[in-house]
Formats: sequence, structure tokens, C-alpha cells
Amino acid sequence: MRKWFVKKEDKLVQKCSRCKQEKKLIFYANNFGVVRGLCQSCRKEVGDKEELFPI
Ligand SMILES: [Zn+2]
Repeated sequence: MRKWFVKKEDKLVQKCSRCKQEKKLIFYANNFGVVRGLCQSCRKEVGDKEELFPI
């Protein structure tokens, strides 16, 4: 039997735009309207300096 549907696990796992590691990302926009996907640890670091708005 052929598998037509490949189960996609962790589809939120992508390369973090800051540390370039494949992690579960949350997407944020900053004051300038720039949208970035950040992992949790980068979110913490960036969040100290910039305001991040979850989108
Ligand atoms: Zn990161």
C-alpha cells in the first residue's frame, strides 16, 4: 500500500532567523514591521532589546 499522506510532524520546525538552528519557531513582528521566526531562546534575547509582537 502506498502512503499518500506523509504525516508531517513538527511542521513548525524551521530555521531560526537568528541562530540558524532548526527549532520550533514563533513568528514575531518588531516595531519596524519586520517579521522573523525566532526560537524560544532567541526570543528571550531579542525580546530584551526589542518589542516583539506575536503574529
Ligand atoms: Zn534561535
